[in-house]
Amino acid sequence: GILTSGGDAPGMNAAIRAVTRTAIYNGFTVKGILRGYRGLVTNEIVDFHSSSVSNIIQLGGTILKTARCEEFKSVEGRQQAYENLKAAGIDALVVIGGDGSFNGAAKLACETDIKVACIPGTIDNDLNYTDYTLGFDTAVNTVLNAVNNIRDTMSSHDRACIVEVMGRSCGDIALFSAIGGGADAVVTPEKGLDLDALAAQLKQGEKLGKSSNIILLSEGVCSAQSLKEQLAAVTDMTLRTVTLGHVQRGGSPSLRDRLLAARFGVKAIECLIAGKKAVAVGVRNEEIVADDLQKALAYPAADRSELFRVCEILCR
Ligand code: ADP
Repeated sequence: GILTSGGDAPGMNAAIRAVTRTAIYNGFTVKGILRGYRGLVTNEIVDFHSSSVSNIIQLGGTILKTARCEEFKSVEGRQQAYENLKAAGIDALVVIGGDGSFNGAAKLACETDIKVACIPGTIDNDLNYTDYTLGFDTAVNTVLNAVNNIRDTMSSHDRACIVEVMGRSCGDIALFSAIGGGADAVVTPEKGLDLDALAAQLKQGEKLGKSSNIILLSEGVCSAQSLKEQLAAVTDMTLRTVTLGHVQRGGSPSLRDRLLAARFGVKAIECLIAGKKAVAVGVRNEEIVADDLQKALAYPAADRSELFRVCEILCR
């Protein structure tokens, strides 16, 4: 069985294709579960064939659809899901989603005889055991395109703009976009907001004759409007705001995400064939890895100090 759960991300379809084709290649029968754990509880399970995943590698979103499901957080909800899985003849499940979805999969594996393999699918890059999650690269490229366009108009008018990006409590989308987009400042949950330092940095930029100021703001800190109001209290700069929102979640996956999807999909099925009970596949130092699911969820956060330093040096 295969499902996508939580927030959608570009590359989920490419992963669905990779999982399905690898399973069929190895002689398994595949079922698609619609709308994540909700479809497990309400029994929305369909047969999947090689042709079910034709012509989807390039599509954003997820053909299996995704949803959030409160019932699955209870033992009773998971019991219902288990009964539906057994009735459909499913004994192994591939879950593509974020940390919430991984937690659900860990509980299902712990309470039942279902084997699970999790694939990290979220634009937020907030799963610590893997260097990259599926969809992150595409989302950052979408942000970069937007920043390019915003910069054109801001520099024509000598204006400054706060660009709010997604990421929940993880600042990676903001940090990577700030470096890639040549931003003048970045504000992330990891570093927090130092209003006086930010104001001083923007003022310094003005003195150096910068024609535009782009401030990359992570949604996990505050909204663009709130930062604008806070900065207005300590500077006389005129600031514009842009909240990119769901534009970051859609779009055709980048090559990097398609490659990850293909490699994650093959690894997930190979782990299940090897008899693993509960794993999370990921990538570390360009190598595909499979960690015990509980261990993966307990991984410490990546050290971003080098990237913050690079950003700090180059934005001056
Ligand atoms: P994401 O997977 O993107 O982090 P959510 O946190 O919304 O998204 O989780 C997706 C779904 O996973 C939830 O709607 C719920 O069904 C299930 N889930 C999340 N947390 C748990 C948990 N602690 N126990 C069981 N199921 C969970």
